[in-house]
Amino acid sequence: MHLDPFELHRPASVDDVVRLSRDLAGGFDYLAGGTDLLPNYKMHLNLKPHLVALEDVAELQGHTLARLGAMARLADLETDGALTAAYPSLGEAVREVATPLVRASGTVGGNLLVETRCFFFNQSYFWRASLGFCLKADGDRCHVVPQKEKCYATFSGDLAPALMVVDAEVEVAGPDGRRRMPLHELYDLGGDGIRRTHLAPGELVVAVHLPEASRGRPGTYLKLRVRPSYDFPELGVAASGVFEGRRVRSLRLAVGGADPYPRRFDALTDSLVDTELTDERLQEFSARVERAVRPVHNTFLLPDYRRRMVSVYVRRALTRLRESAAS
Ligand SMILES: Cc1cc2nc3c(=O)[nH]c(=O)nc-3n(C[C@H](O)[C@H](O)[C@H](O)COP(=O)(O)OP(=O)(O)OC[C@H]3O[C@@H](n4cnc5c(N)ncnc54)[C@H](O)[C@@H]3O)c2cc1C
Ligand code: SF4
Repeated sequence: MHLDPFELHRPASVDDVVRLSRDLAGGFDYLAGGTDLLPNYKMHLNLKPHLVALEDVAELQGHTLARLGAMARLADLETDGALTAAYPSLGEAVREVATPLVRASGTVGGNLLVETRCFFFNQSYFWRASLGFCLKADGDRCHVVPQKEKCYATFSGDLAPALMVVDAEVEVAGPDGRRRMPLHELYDLGGDGIRRTHLAPGELVVAVHLPEASRGRPGTYLKLRVRPSYDFPELGVAASGVFEGRRVRSLRLAVGGADPYPRRFDALTDSLVDTELTDERLQEFSARVERAVRPVHNTFLLPDYRRRMVSVYVRRALTRLRESAAS
């Protein structure tokens, strides 16, 4: 597999990036670490003639306890003990992304906007041409849910659920200026595997902001995957919250790897606040989360198994939080 030619642009400021995005109107992709985009380009998936590299933009670099630059490398987060202790769900998620080599190049922004996955999409051009292309690249039908005209490719990033549960906010910049929103509102729950965020054309992620109020709050991230040393999540469950004994004082829960977008379950978790989380209530709660997700048959593990594992992982995550309060 080879890379087709493209024109590479190397802007040095966010303003220059935004200007370029206007000039290139739709004919470009942002390039961060390239660990997701470039393998997809090698498979001829939705190629663009221009790539706008974000590497030279100083404002996107680095991280602190309060802010992760979009170009912060995952390996740098993983080795920052103060950061991973302050946000345990993030610490557990970041070390589960891919392999050390990928984490050395992969970035926060690229992870939040990683391409959705499907075994009819993540294939070579020849493979896809043999079967017939699909809606997500070059074609007009879905092989997974043929009677529907939408894409069910799965969101397979690890960081988003882990950051959602600490109430992270995302700062974006684009032709209409800058704005900031809760991270869980970046993702379009009414969209699909193709259109899955609320980013306007040309908008880029500048940074993720971490609220001080979440610092030190107990949290966890549990990931289901086929090969633990390497694979994308078949399911990712993040939870963060405060318990007093069995009583829930605050709770956030988010699930990735099951739908085309990661989701937070605020209505369900709010119903637990100021109640005792008994084993019976936990069983009932996890079954409700399981009923809310809709995995389809487009990854390695069967959707029914992935769905049933949702309640298992939710139970494990909340039990872990409850036990940490008791100890
Ligand atoms: C073998 C292998 C295993 C992997 N396993 C996992 C895994 O277990 N979990 C996981 O989460 N990921 C996994 N990945 C995917 C990927 O490596 C990571 O998600 C990584 O964090 C992507 O970051 P990047 O900087 O390389 O993104 P890139 O590949 O540069 O970009 C990814 C997408 O995000 C867009 N983008 C990047 N930055 C911005 C920005 N600031 N603003 C707007 N758009 C932007 C790009 O245009 C592109 O569409 C794996 C990849 C490989 C090759
Ligand atoms: S879910 Fe359907 S449209 Fe989406 S990538 Fe898979 S086959 Fe293509």
